[in-house]
Amino acid sequence: MRDIGLDLGTASVLVFVKNKGVLLTEPSVVAVDKSTGKLLKVGAQAQSMLGRTPGNIIAIRPLREGVISDYEMTELMIRELLRKVTKWRLFKPRVVICVPSGITEVEERAVIDAGLNAGARKIFLVQEPLAAALGAGIDISKPCGHMVVDIGGGTTDIAVISLSNIVESVSIKIAGDQFDEATVKYIRRKYNVLVGERTAEELKMTIGCVTPFTEVKMAAVRGRCLMTGLPKEFTVTSAEMTEAFEEAAARIVEAIVAMLEHTPPELVADIAANGIMMTGGGSLLHGFDTLIEKKTGIGTLVADEPVNCVALGTGKSLDYLSYMQDGTVNIARRKQMQTG
Ligand code: ADP
Ligand code: MG
Repeated sequence: MRDIGLDLGTASVLVFVKNKGVLLTEPSVVAVDKSTGKLLKVGAQAQSMLGRTPGNIIAIRPLREGVISDYEMTELMIRELLRKVTKWRLFKPRVVICVPSGITEVEERAVIDAGLNAGARKIFLVQEPLAAALGAGIDISKPCGHMVVDIGGGTTDIAVISLSNIVESVSIKIAGDQFDEATVKYIRRKYNVLVGERTAEELKMTIGCVTPFTEVKMAAVRGRCLMTGLPKEFTVTSAEMTEAFEEAAARIVEAIVAMLEHTPPELVADIAANGIMMTGGGSLLHGFDTLIEKKTGIGTLVADEPVNCVALGTGKSLDYLSYMQDGTVNIARRKQMQTG
């Protein structure tokens, strides 16, 4: 069986299959029958049930805030995804799973067990910022500082990397989801209209920006008027979105600035020369690179295929499997094993 790389994101799960690339991208949602505990649907089909389920069915996002809040569901999800990409069951695959950098040992163990129970022969763990950097095409093995900012659904992960190791990292719970929530709140406060999370996300992707577009964009929105309880249609502008996003965007920028303040000066000099690399779906929010560049004075670049970066990085790390200990955390260990 071909080796597999798994990006367990809070918004989406990506499956990389060796020599084939990213074969599967599904929203991290599962739908379960509450009374029997049976898994009904995974991914896009489960997502369409979110907020629309009858009493006995629940649709949940088991990874919502960057930690695995529901192990059992995560295991079911991994099992189902592996089943989708492995057509025959003669050999079990080896699987590299990408874990958030702040994960505890207990959580690590749980991910490993979930993967093994889900049908993997061996599980290897890779820290997410390292995978993101690899996927963005950065050569992480040199003694040279790089900064990666991964804005996902539930968390933004900021890391300084050198010599295949994470020198500093921080994970904050401000990312795509919080921008959606900010949109919902803004529209409720300003227009007294309630819009759904999916509507908010769509607005974010079409007219959302943290640095203004050259020309103001507009979009028609439907929601429920809180005064009358009836549907109401109205128009939102990109300038209003910038206003709605201001606070969340500032928190992310502050975290980047704080990280730079904590980073040893030699590495800061490297980062200034190399630039800051952005990955994750949230980095597609219009003008985020410009904003970071403006506030830090450091050139900022969005990776090619930002949404696929982590999965591509786990894919690259598959090439080093023979140097990694199964169940270990860090591809950095491969270096120690090579040199030591
Ligand atoms: P995770 O790794 O946590 O699963 P992703 O890297 O897949 O997250 O990013 C998901 C987030 O990116 C979601 O909040 C989604 O709304 C946001 N996103 C995706 N595309 C865009 C876009 N074009 N503009 C703004 N945000 C986007
Ligand atoms: Mg991610």
